[in-house]
Amino acid sequence: MYDGLTGRYTFGCPVSGEVRVRLSRFRTVERLGGAAHPAVYRVRFACPCGDDHDGLLTHEDLDWAPLGAAGEVFFNVMTRRLESTLPDLLDQAARQIGAGEWPWSFFCYPEGRVRPIFPSAFRVLVPADERVGVAVRCPDCGGTSVNLVSARHVDEPFYNDARVDVIEHIFSHDHEFLLDSFRADLESDAFDARRLEL
Ligand SMILES: [Zn+2]
Ligand SMILES: [Zn+2]
Repeated sequence: MYDGLTGRYTFGCPVSGEVRVRLSRFRTVERLGGAAHPAVYRVRFACPCGDDHDGLLTHEDLDWAPLGAAGEVFFNVMTRRLESTLPDLLDQAARQIGAGEWPWSFFCYPEGRVRPIFPSAFRVLVPADERVGVAVRCPDCGGTSVNLVSARHVDEPFYNDARVDVIEHIFSHDHEFLLDSFRADLESDAFDARRLEL
């Protein structure tokens, strides 16, 4: 579930019951096999309780709800009526995408270019100082790249950092291996990153 007012996804926590977390607190995103429609993703997230837990999101919740596609209902103080943000937000998103602005983007290292993505392309997220290291599987070439970005770049649709750091390394497709090598790379001070314009 996604809460459009706070920009957070809702998950269950064994300690606190229900928690709301931003996308930048996700740690891994993995598409589950089987049921093709709707696709279901298992998300491991860093919970405010201090532990990491798993939660499930449908493709729609993961990718489209932050753009307003889940249909928020709110009380409009001007008209004093309950209204849905759905048509407005979707319309706004459609216009921005039409104008060449993407809700999320990253720099694909194998292709050497910026690519638009959705959150389902994120595979691993690791906090790195004030920023977030994100491993993204490119929907166009299938290659995995790692960018260092601000939390806002991840959390806020249509906000993109002007510059991102790109780790100059072609990552394995294997999930576990990717996670390990990515963490090791981020933890070593000597990883090669190149600052590139988005
Ligand atoms: Zn928890
Ligand atoms: Zn690519």
